[in-house]
Amino acid sequence: PFGYVGIEAVLDQMKRKAMKIGFEFNIMVVGQSGLGKSTLVNTLFKSKICRRSMSPEYEKIPKTVELRAVSHVIEEKGLKMRLTVIDTPGFGDQINNQNCWDPIIKYIAEQYEKYLREEIVIKRKRRIPDSRVHCCIYFVPPTGHWLRPLDVEFMKRLSKIVNIVPVIAKADTMTLEEREEFKQQIQKDLQAYGISVYPQRELDEDMEDTVLNDRIREKIPFAVVGTDQEHQVNGKKVLGRKTNWGIIEVENMAHCEFANLRDLLIRTNLQDLKDITHYIHYESYRIRRLSESNL
Ligand code: GDP
Ligand code: MG
Repeated sequence: PFGYVGIEAVLDQMKRKAMKIGFEFNIMVVGQSGLGKSTLVNTLFKSKICRRSMSPEYEKIPKTVELRAVSHVIEEKGLKMRLTVIDTPGFGDQINNQNCWDPIIKYIAEQYEKYLREEIVIKRKRRIPDSRVHCCIYFVPPTGHWLRPLDVEFMKRLSKIVNIVPVIAKADTMTLEEREEFKQQIQKDLQAYGISVYPQRELDEDMEDTVLNDRIREKIPFAVVGTDQEHQVNGKKVLGRKTNWGIIEVENMAHCEFANLRDLLIRTNLQDLKDITHYIHYESYRIRRLSESNL
């Protein structure tokens, strides 16, 4: 069955190795309080990817008061993935929001630093534990107007050190047309302010990347809805929000784009998010630190 080189056998080996090592994937959620960050974290853990690994501690959502990381190990077909979500307290809630991104930048840098310290010791671990933030979901409030100066400032700074995936929060408060218009406006704003969110155009390696990524870029920011409730719909349990007019099913692509976000993060682009974190963001951190060379 093997060809000349036996590529398939090589792929098999890589797969077996990857299965043994498993995956670590770290997502951070950021945005003003009340935009549904903690709820979306729950939705992510409760949604189909890992309904079995759901734990009861995830039932209630207290107001988030400090940066907090929660991990779940998700196992599928013998492959283990440690999914960690870092929930952050309301950001930019003060009257004076100057430097409100500092704790977030600090956290991200600290994880790079930890990794770097492990890398430069003489006797390196065979596998360095990876707590680096692979993706930062930024919640844009559903105003329907345009990005606020705070959104611009935050994403501008953070996009230089981490993969940013912006989302339109609480999309159920907008009509479908409003969502679409708002999305277009945000895309225009991002371009006008020179903010490069994931997937970054300048990192496309070839036409194939560009074609695939363009498909994502035209849908970004995803208009998401979160929930911590399950409801019966046609005899099936679905995650949804009950309203006077019916149930908004968060995993139903006709209702909102939560599923697109989940698939992008956990299915289709997980490895790419990790690669960009390692080869681009961490690499610039590393270069900066080593050239300061006071390690
Ligand atoms: P956080 O401060 O950003 O963590 O926001 P929370 O997750 O604590 O949610 C704040 C409030 O908004 C809660 O009452 C949630 O039930 C509600 N909420 C969360 N997500 C959504 C959503 O997608 N749509 C609507 N309409 N409300 C939501
Ligand atoms: Mg919260």
